[in-house]
Amino acid sequence: MELLKQRILKEGRALSGQVLLVDSFLNHQVDVELMKACGEEFARRFADAGVTRIVTIESSGIAPAAMTALSMNLPMVIMKKSVSSILRDGIIQTEVFSFTKNAPYLLTLKTSFVHPGDRVLLIDDFLANGEAAFGGIHLLERAGAQIAGVGAVIAKAFQPGMEKLRAAGYRVEALAAVTRLAEGIIEF
Ligand code: 5GP
Repeated sequence: MELLKQRILKEGRALSGQVLLVDSFLNHQVDVELMKACGEEFARRFADAGVTRIVTIESSGIAPAAMTALSMNLPMVIMKKSVSSILRDGIIQTEVFSFTKNAPYLLTLKTSFVHPGDRVLLIDDFLANGEAAFGGIHLLERAGAQIAGVGAVIAKAFQPGMEKLRAAGYRVEALAAVTRLAEGIIEF
């Protein structure tokens, strides 16, 4: 997606060879116009996938997922990374290792928000090692859903997540696939 790539080149910053900072339009300040365009692009790419529900992981997946849900006229569900005391019943959880926090967390889904037979499009901001995506898939499949696809706004193609998901048979679409990061260098 050219608009997104241009924005990454203009405002993105490689914090290392592994981490891309895009907090001026995706992770902290959010450009909702750009997110709307991302949602429309996911909707176009997954138009034939029979999607019935959009699912994301808090918090940075929410903006692109909401715009995708709006474009596809579908419900959206947020998987939680921390569980409040009011969320006790009917939940399933799996441990996920956080790429950015370098620590595990319990990914949590309330099963009543995903129905057996649902075809879920899982949307997230970044795809790196695939830990978050595989954790989400695990919970969704346990809830009886099928995975229609995985959509990442940005995939770092030099990390193994995208390949691992495809090797496991999941359809993956990345709106921008970064092939190399280094100080002052971002390549697609
Ligand atoms: P994975 O689970 O695929 O290893 O990492 C994906 C998750 O880690 C995403 O939900 C995202 O929040 C975070 N993440 C991974 N790589 C980056 C990165 O380069 N920059 C930012 N801002 N977040 C990242």
